[in-house]
Amino acid sequence: MRDGDAAPLQAVLADALRDLAGSLRHHRALGLADMTFSRPPFPDPADALAEQERALQGCTRCKLCKSRTNIAFGSGHPEAKLMVVGEGPGEEEDRQGKPFVGRAGQLLTKMLESVKLDRERDCYIANVVKCRPERNRNPEPDEVAACNPFLMAQIDTIRPAVILALGNFAAQTLLGTKEGITKLRGRVYPYREIALVPTFHPAFLLRNPGPEYRRMAYDDLKMARREYDRITGRGGRAAGG
Ligand code: URA
Repeated sequence: MRDGDAAPLQAVLADALRDLAGSLRHHRALGLADMTFSRPPFPDPADALAEQERALQGCTRCKLCKSRTNIAFGSGHPEAKLMVVGEGPGEEEDRQGKPFVGRAGQLLTKMLESVKLDRERDCYIANVVKCRPERNRNPEPDEVAACNPFLMAQIDTIRPAVILALGNFAAQTLLGTKEGITKLRGRVYPYREIALVPTFHPAFLLRNPGPEYRRMAYDDLKMARREYDRITGRGGRAAGG
C-alpha cells in the first residue's frame, strides 16, 4: 500500500464501522437482541420484511397498542421500486391488519392505476405508524418515534427508487419539516438517495376539497411515475420485478 492510501482507507473503514454500529443499533431497536450468522446476513427482501413483521407482533412500544386490534405492517411487492407511505391505519385497516384497505385505500388504488401502477405488483404500501390512533387522531411524537425504526427498516429493505408520501403527516415526518402539504407538493425531494414525491392524502381528496386538488394530485402522480421511469429505466407499463 502506498503511504497516501492510508488516510482514505481509514476513512472508508471508519464509515463502514459507523454503518455497522448504526445497523446493530437498528436491530436492537427492532427487538432482535441476538444476531445469528447461521443464516445469510442479507436475506432476501421478502424474508427480511417477514422477519420485521414477526418482530413487531405483540408490540407494546407505545400506547397505541392498548386500543389496536391488529398491526397493519405493510403490503405489496417486497422489491417494489415505488413505496407509498401514509399516516396510520384507520378503522378498516385496524380490522384487517393491512394498510389502505378502506375507502381512502380504494381511491389510492385508483390513483396508482391512473399512472399504470398496480398496488400489489408495482408498489409497497406502509404507514408512519402501524397501529391505529383512536378516532383517527394524528399520531403523537412518541408514537412516531417508537414506530420509526420499523418504517426505516422497511425502506432500507425495499430500497425503492421513489417514495410517494401521502398527506401532511407522512411528508412532514419523512422530510423533517412542519411545512404543509400544499406547499410541499409539486416537486421532488432527495431523501436518502430516493426521490420523494409528496402529494395529498386520498382521505383528504375524498372530502371533496375541489377538482383542482384532484388535478394537483394527478400531476404529482405523473411526476412520481416520471421519476420511477427515469430511475428504473422502465417506460410504459411498470412490471414488478
Ligand atoms: N390512511 C392512512 O394514512 N393509512 C391507511 O392505511 C389508511 C388510511
